[in-house]
Amino acid sequence: MPDNIVLDFNQQLAGLKNDYISNLKDEFKQIEKLIHLLSVEKNKNAKILDDLQHRFHKMAGSGGTFGFDQLTKQARRFENDIIQSKESLPHASEPNIVTYLKDNIHLLINSLEEVHATVSASASEQNKTEIKLKNEKHIYLIEDDLHLAEHLKIQLESFGYHLHLFNSIDSADKHVDKQKPDMLIFDIILDSDKKNSTKILLQNRPNLLNDNCPLLFITQNDSFDNRIRAAKLGALGFYLKPLNIPMLVNRITDIFEQKTATPGKVLIVDDDKQLALNYQLVLQGVGIEVEILKNSREIYNEVMEFKPDLLLMDLHMPDYSGPELAGILRQYDNLSSLSIVYLSSEQNLEIQQHAINKGADDFLSKPIHNTQLISAVKYRINRSRIIKEKISRDSLTGLMKHANIKEAAKMELMRSKRNKKPVTLVMLDIDHFKQVNDTYGHATGDVVINSLAILLRQRLRQTDIIGRYGGEEFLVILPDCNNKFAINIIDDIRRNFNEVNFNYQGKKFNCSLSAGTATSTTFSDLQSDELLIKSDQAMYKAKESGRNRVVAAQE
Ligand code: GH3
Ligand code: MG
Ligand code: MG
Repeated sequence: MPDNIVLDFNQQLAGLKNDYISNLKDEFKQIEKLIHLLSVEKNKNAKILDDLQHRFHKMAGSGGTFGFDQLTKQARRFENDIIQSKESLPHASEPNIVTYLKDNIHLLINSLEEVHATVSASASEQNKTEIKLKNEKHIYLIEDDLHLAEHLKIQLESFGYHLHLFNSIDSADKHVDKQKPDMLIFDIILDSDKKNSTKILLQNRPNLLNDNCPLLFITQNDSFDNRIRAAKLGALGFYLKPLNIPMLVNRITDIFEQKTATPGKVLIVDDDKQLALNYQLVLQGVGIEVEILKNSREIYNEVMEFKPDLLLMDLHMPDYSGPELAGILRQYDNLSSLSIVYLSSEQNLEIQQHAINKGADDFLSKPIHNTQLISAVKYRINRSRIIKEKISRDSLTGLMKHANIKEAAKMELMRSKRNKKPVTLVMLDIDHFKQVNDTYGHATGDVVINSLAILLRQRLRQTDIIGRYGGEEFLVILPDCNNKFAINIIDDIRRNFNEVNFNYQGKKFNCSLSAGTATSTTFSDLQSDELLIKSDQAMYKAKESGRNRVVAAQE
């Protein structure tokens, strides 16, 4: 698909929702019929209850995704009632559940009527955005609930992903030769697969399932068994219906970013230079970036500069011991998530334990086999990245938090001065955002904020750093980027953002943003905080001169 197709899918979405509602009406009739049958053909009751349970289950999964939260709640209640009646006293309780369903089924129909009038308070309902496509990734969605699948397709495509829909694993498998998937999203229990678990159906499908293709599950049931099944298959995510679409899109974007990210950085601290060089070689062999500490007294600065995911440290060294150096690093709050692992030939368990207590995470024994070193280091890097993200990322947008982005600005400015290359700071603020909240509600406001976050993540380079500076304010750091280039890219994003169509209860609206840029080379003697003020002032100039524009800070 070309780079700049704009999807007009609001109409499509409205159509889908209408289809869903008219199908629901048929479904209600079916359910009423089945409930009626319960008292007529008593010998078939077990089977009918199974059928009803399945129908409620499906309805609970799809309702909320289309904005019918009450329907989801009510259907789930009935589903659970049936399950409980089966579990407690299989025979004795049957008449009770039959009477209960007969007396209460109107609640299900009422829940639809009631919600129908006031619908579209859920985030997914409002999140009908149009964004120019970029980074085309092919995602297979294997889901037997066609309405839900179509709905998801439209929403995910608005964020630039190309969705291929399949209603069975077989049909997906057959399609792989035509277009390889970059990601698979499965409903964990497909209708047609009820007898066979997804696990069995996914076995022997090397075409479809390979180690490089990330796997996500969506499901109605948050059960331990389903989670185990997903874990065994190596799933990277497990999402419950009704789906929170912005959250799902964030996770998908995360996964694609991680796949292109570097495999991590390790700083080695060892007085045996020969050995350190050997470890360096082994780890670099699998793509890990490795540096060896040059000067123990400079450990904090070297760590801050190189930003390792993991410190591999010897225990006994002539000048300062491992635990002493770890103790220094642990004095700095901003390094609390840094992973420190000792690599030592110390055999005494008490000494090992004592060393770990001094602020380290683990102990590896020398001599260590190369493959063991690689797998231990990779595992640690992964864990350390996850923890770091949890600490430093804003929960709505997945972007860096205020303090972290300010720290990053400081480090990038220092680095740019050393490398004699420009770095540009950009402050972005959504225009008249208060009005969005006041007119369409806070939840819609959140969707707008999140859409800008996703747009920034999709449009900027891997090396650019994006943070949520305040409520609807973002700070972007563009390393190795002069002012002219920064203005081009940010202005492009400004235009894109302005083209996004948001929708609230059928009312379409657009938002705009104002941005200010400040480049290090224009203000060569300023510190990062001062440069930040310059970009903020430029942003206010953009506001004053009419908003929806980008202004560069001048000398
Ligand atoms: P201007 O064009 O001058 O930037 O006007 P504005 O209305 O965008 O700016 P103002 O600073 O007056 O209002 C920002 C609003 O953003 C106020 C605050 O309630 C809201 N806000 C802050 N954080 C969040 C958030 O996380 N979610 C939502 N929905 N709103 C938020
Ligand atoms: Mg604003
Ligand atoms: Mg603001």
